[in-house]
Amino acid sequence: MSPVRVAIAGSSGSIGMQTLDVVRAANALEGQGRYEVVALGVGSSVDVLIAQALEFRPQVVAVANPALRAQVAAALPFAEVVADFADLVQPADVVVNAVVGFAGLQVTVRTLQLGKRLALANKESLIAGAPVVQPLRSVPGAELVPVDSEHCAVHQCLRSSAFAGREVSRVVLTASGGPFRGRTAAELAEVGVEQALAHPTWKMGPKITIDSSTLMNKGLEVIEAHELFGTPYDQIEVVVHPQSVVHSMAEFTDGSTIAQLSMPDMRLPIGYALAFPARIGTPFGRIDWSALRRLDFEPPDTATFRCLSLAYAAGRVGSTAPAWLSAANEVAVDAFLQVRIRWHQIAEVNEAALDRYEPSADSTVDDIIAADARARVVAQEVLPA
Ligand code: MG
Repeated sequence: MSPVRVAIAGSSGSIGMQTLDVVRAANALEGQGRYEVVALGVGSSVDVLIAQALEFRPQVVAVANPALRAQVAAALPFAEVVADFADLVQPADVVVNAVVGFAGLQVTVRTLQLGKRLALANKESLIAGAPVVQPLRSVPGAELVPVDSEHCAVHQCLRSSAFAGREVSRVVLTASGGPFRGRTAAELAEVGVEQALAHPTWKMGPKITIDSSTLMNKGLEVIEAHELFGTPYDQIEVVVHPQSVVHSMAEFTDGSTIAQLSMPDMRLPIGYALAFPARIGTPFGRIDWSALRRLDFEPPDTATFRCLSLAYAAGRVGSTAPAWLSAANEVAVDAFLQVRIRWHQIAEVNEAALDRYEPSADSTVDDIIAADARARVVAQEVLPA
């Protein structure tokens, strides 16, 4: 069997590093050369890139920061050093897009245009970029496999039905509920940054951890689920499930529900996307059914966690509204992390910014980027002094 050639855009971040973990583990178990890392790219973390490249010997490496390219070229004489993440795509069979921000959109576009498999962890590609990305999914060979525990779960559930599009009656995304599950708005009035950053089940960066505390992360995942699976918003539900063992579910027209369960470890969705439609031979943790005493489910408290409803509202508007909300939220979260606003004001800023949404005439990449930039200005304007 010829090796699966893997490119990783954003290899120094958490998803990038865990992708290399999966490659190491799969090659150790299934034979060296099962996966071949052919391309790696980073923004500025060149020390990490050089160490990764010396281990995996990619043909091409991308360094976004121009000042650091010569240093990388000197350290890696066997690799071509490029500026653009999109140039990582050509030599690969599967491209892991773990770029943070709009730079990831071009990786998604190029991968799908070239008819390759995209393991997608870049949020902008679907939340903001859907109008541009969706048409490219019909390019022959192009395949979008989500690298997110919830969407990976739904993807797996839908595989069990040969008629998934017609037979699905509901997609149910699970949410851990974050650190503030069960607390009332009044109790949350005074919470600080450290409390919001203390996530009970997943270890993630500060932005996504705050988004998980407000349920904005789940709201953005609702938009992604709509874009990925074509499920109408009325048929996407969120249920709070604190154990994070059921990663999401699909309900079918006859009332049957299929859920995907596993230990919470991002290497599972990464390995799923690398191996699809096969499966990797290495489990990253198995469920111990004798230790798993209970699985709890409860409806989300949308009065306290208002960001969830705002995301549904932006999703229903469509076009550049999700890009607008997502950009406003970045401003709000940033202000919270800098202790300029309180936790409950994140939702207030998002709501005020969404109320001032300015529709775009079209939804090209430029329109999306312009909407994002404009939303950041508007969010700054509505920030409480
Ligand atoms: Mg998720």
